[in-house]
Amino acid sequence: MNTVAEPALAAAAASAARPTDPRKAVFEANKLSKRLHRQVGQAIGDYKMIEAGDKVMVCLSGGKDSHALLDLLISLRERAPVPFELVAVNLDQKQPGFPAHVLPEYLRRRGVPFHIENQDTYSVVKKLVPEGATMCSLCSRLRRGVLYRVARELGATKIALGHHRDDMVVTLLINMFFGGRLKSMPPKLVSDDGRHVVIRPLAYVAETDLQRWAEHRQFPIIPCTLCGSQNDLQRVQVKAMLHEWERQYPGRSDNMLRAMAHVTRSHLLDRNLYPFESLQATGVPDAAGDKAFDDDSCADTTRVQSVALHFERNPDVED
Ligand code: SF4
Repeated sequence: MNTVAEPALAAAAASAARPTDPRKAVFEANKLSKRLHRQVGQAIGDYKMIEAGDKVMVCLSGGKDSHALLDLLISLRERAPVPFELVAVNLDQKQPGFPAHVLPEYLRRRGVPFHIENQDTYSVVKKLVPEGATMCSLCSRLRRGVLYRVARELGATKIALGHHRDDMVVTLLINMFFGGRLKSMPPKLVSDDGRHVVIRPLAYVAETDLQRWAEHRQFPIIPCTLCGSQNDLQRVQVKAMLHEWERQYPGRSDNMLRAMAHVTRSHLLDRNLYPFESLQATGVPDAAGDKAFDDDSCADTTRVQSVALHFERNPDVED
């Protein structure tokens, strides 16, 4: 579960939301609804996340992201070109003060099949993790194991998680900054036990939109702070940095997400991804080929071309 920088996020979402004119408020809510449905539908289509006959287990923690995921999938199912089933699953980890009645009541109201799994992972984590250390890593691992088992028992063919665009971008940066790996959260993957396909239908959705949608739809949010764990400091820092970037340069998070979908293997350093060792000159010009000495940037290409032409014509002029 992720609670990082929620106050800053709520403020960011609020500043972009809640118009005082009621007609404007309806207009904005419709626009948001359309965008969310389009983005989720697009991600599902792009990665073939859901197929005819699937039984999709939606992991519902009670946070804004998983609520939005379930809500959007319920609505998309009604207009989907292929039939599929949904089942919501909540894992009650027995954290002190967990309001166990909230989600069953909500899910009954929504008329969606659900299962509440009761497993006291909270006590296990408390016992094993030293006082003051972050509990999230062990907690998530235990939760994952339980959810895989439940998916098997329910006969689910897909497990849907509520991670969104910002989670993916932040994970990419954390892995780069602290782990030395170019790796994020994939929109679709086979689980580590090899038995399940896990999907992330919110892959294209901005977290601020989910925050606004949660407020608009008035989901019964259960905070992820009941366990008393501190937030993961690296994630907090990177997320704050991303928010600041996004404030200064709107669109940067979307660009980073786009970059993850447009990888040029030959322009990275991974010898497992590209056969650098066996690379040979082909002798055949390739218009789309690499211009090895050019700065591959967003430079003003007109100026770059004219300067290049000038030097080609005046080869003796010094740089
Ligand atoms: S330890 Fe607490 S904050 Fe961390 S994942 Fe578990 S429930 Fe969420």
